[in-house]
Amino acid sequence: MEKQTSWMDRYSRQILLPEIGGIGQKKLGKSSVGLVGANSISQPFFLYGVGAGVGKWGLLDPSLSSANNLAFQAKSRNPNIEVRVYSPKNLKEDIESWVKQWSIVIDASNNHVIQQKLTSACQLTRTPIISAGCDGSTGWILQAPCPFCLTSTPPLHSTKNQKNWVENMVPGLIGSILAQHAILFLLKPPKIASPQLTNFTADTYTLLNKIPYKDPNCPTCHITS
Ligand SMILES: [Zn+2]
Repeated sequence: MEKQTSWMDRYSRQILLPEIGGIGQKKLGKSSVGLVGANSISQPFFLYGVGAGVGKWGLLDPSLSSANNLAFQAKSRNPNIEVRVYSPKNLKEDIESWVKQWSIVIDASNNHVIQQKLTSACQLTRTPIISAGCDGSTGWILQAPCPFCLTSTPPLHSTKNQKNWVENMVPGLIGSILAQHAILFLLKPPKIASPQLTNFTADTYTLLNKIPYKDPNCPTCHITS
């Protein structure tokens, strides 16, 4: 009984929202997210997602101390959630098994090679994926890209980190938009997630939705379009 009251107290504001309600809140509690990257994009994303009541999390980062630190912050914010920390060494051979256990995979690695590997594994296992990254004053969120097109897409971010326009402002904003995006996805998962690219430019405060890059020679897109 006490646990029920605590659940109601914790999420009462969200439950009052028509987009969520009690059913949506329970759905979030049963949802799980595989989050790749413990950095300034994933931090706001993770903390908003944890606060919203997404029940189960897998946090993957080469730096176990950064991942553990983020997991600790999350558990202090919401002790009812479950967080497990993973090292990339554990899934070199079996990335498909890792991705398919989650309701959605969020790739905040900001790394083109990791993005391609995760996207291919997610397509093979039919796991939804959203990637996000930043470079200087620009940031992007990419939903359900075609993995074949992605291999021929120029990286959406440079391999060397530029100094941010205002340090951590752009990644913080991208992480917050990503949280909104992912929570709506978990509440109402589409039968087929259509590819979508959202670009943010801090210089002009512009947020644009675009169709992701399509390789004119891509066998998959050529057949399906
Ligand atoms: Zn394609």
